[in-house]
Amino acid sequence: MEQQIPSFLLRNDLSVLLDLLVADGYQLHGPQVRDGAITYASISSLSDLPVGYQDQQKPGHYQLAEDHNKRFFHWANGPQALKPLLYPAREVLWQAKRNASGSIQFIVPVQSFEKIAVIGVKACDIAALKLQDQHFLQGEYVDPGYQARREGLLLVAVNCSYAASTCFCVSTGDGPSVESGFDIALTELDEGFLVAAGSEKGERFLTRLPLQNATAQQLDAATQQHETVAAMQTRRLEPIAVGQLNDAREHPQWQDIAERCLACGNCTMVCPTCFCHHQNDELVMKGDESQHIREWDSCFGESHGQLAGFQVRDTIKARYQQWMIHKLDSWQEQYGRSGCTGCGRCMSWCPAEIDFVAEANIIGGADE
Ligand code: SF4
Ligand code: SF4
Repeated sequence: MEQQIPSFLLRNDLSVLLDLLVADGYQLHGPQVRDGAITYASISSLSDLPVGYQDQQKPGHYQLAEDHNKRFFHWANGPQALKPLLYPAREVLWQAKRNASGSIQFIVPVQSFEKIAVIGVKACDIAALKLQDQHFLQGEYVDPGYQARREGLLLVAVNCSYAASTCFCVSTGDGPSVESGFDIALTELDEGFLVAAGSEKGERFLTRLPLQNATAQQLDAATQQHETVAAMQTRRLEPIAVGQLNDAREHPQWQDIAERCLACGNCTMVCPTCFCHHQNDELVMKGDESQHIREWDSCFGESHGQLAGFQVRDTIKARYQQWMIHKLDSWQEQYGRSGCTGCGRCMSWCPAEIDFVAEANIIGGADE
């Protein structure tokens, strides 16, 4: 669908959109402050949103601060994007049960998935969602749980009005404003929002909102805001050609990183595009039932490199190479683009303060 010319919605009338979504059967998810970070979780009204908060981020550091600007969405991101909503950290794929005759019955748990509207999704996370769609829906096999959750999802995107020092979505081509992949897009200004539909589903809600025509001044303010946020991003991931990092496996920087990296896997857990997992069967006490479980895993874990009785990545250097080379280099062959959307989470949540972008630029030769 073609993007519409934005209309304007007064700040407090955002609650009308929330009410319409609820009346249409959507559960609302949105950003809120939990445990000192901005997290997507269930919300019921505008008062749940993180008004007046802003995240300060740098490698190894995430802190919320009070912001003089009392907007709903004047922050960059929190530790998780949409990944846990569509691809849960732990999921039962099937159950097996031995019945009285001794035969084994396999049962796929019947799951009813709610319709969920997510309010306040940022451009880098919509780009990550497109990559997860490619992996879970557009390959040889379709993941039925992901598919069911995805079909029930409605996305209300918000163009960024602030970038943390870890953000670099401009250099990956994924932000700071959304271009596609959303149902409704908001640009937050002090007095309200420019509103545009990105899908027919989104358009149906817009026709029921108390919208005004956007003024030339509001449109100019939105353009200025976009340019200001883009200019705030001083961090830049330089282009990496297919095979470039793989060919640089002997670069001394890998060992330098390995001496700092704790192999904790935080970077892969917070990354919105990582999808590695392990599967195992859990028996119930009586021994006649089991559950086949899928759980998130990390390429930094020792067990992840254990294949057919061999450890294929027995050093932290080999595991860091696997993470970065797959994400930035071989992913391009696999999915047609890099697996990084510039959100910066892998740096903020790294306890060893490893700067993923700086390291990639060094190994890729951008700093030579
Ligand atoms: S790069 Fe940082 S977050 Fe990732 S495994 Fe190493 S120490 Fe943990
Ligand atoms: S690699 Fe790091 S910056 Fe890139 S998408 Fe993953 S978490 Fe975000």
